[in-house]
Amino acid sequence: MNRKTLMNRRTGINRRQFLQGLAGAGCCILLPSSLLAADKGMQNVIEKIQKSEEEWRKILTSQQYYVLREEGTERSHSSPLDKEYGKGVYACAGCDLELFTSEMKFDSGTGWPSFFTSIEGRLGTKTDFKMILPRTEYHCARCGGHQGHVFKDGPKPTGKRYCNNGVALKFIPENGKA
Ligand SMILES: [Zn+2]
Repeated sequence: MNRKTLMNRRTGINRRQFLQGLAGAGCCILLPSSLLAADKGMQNVIEKIQKSEEEWRKILTSQQYYVLREEGTERSHSSPLDKEYGKGVYACAGCDLELFTSEMKFDSGTGWPSFFTSIEGRLGTKTDFKMILPRTEYHCARCGGHQGHVFKDGPKPTGKRYCNNGVALKFIPENGKA
């Protein structure tokens, strides 16, 4: 059976339709962490962190600030985390909230650290219209720091590709924590 090819073709069409659908809806797949927590019996309530622009500038490097607070995108292949495949967790560089584990990472060949899923309830999403086609932006649920964009051309089992800026993450190795 040539099911995979068929599926890929269908995904290509569906992605466009999906994106158009999002544009038509005028936004927004915002999932407040409080809502997610409510579904789980209020177990994982994430208290949000709010800081002024000045405060963020003090604790972030200029590259981190550009990505996390201004929704910038780092240069492809510029982050050492793209080729990091050790065991550990990936935390938000802004507030240390753990967003991904090394088991969720895969090599997408794009030059950006890529994940097929995230730790539940740690990300919020919104649609961004910076490109001609709207994209689904995602950010840290605690500090609101921009992490990357999620696409629907990832591997099984989710079919998702979280395309993340390496500079927005801190890798914490399972062994050898300082
Ligand atoms: Zn954060």
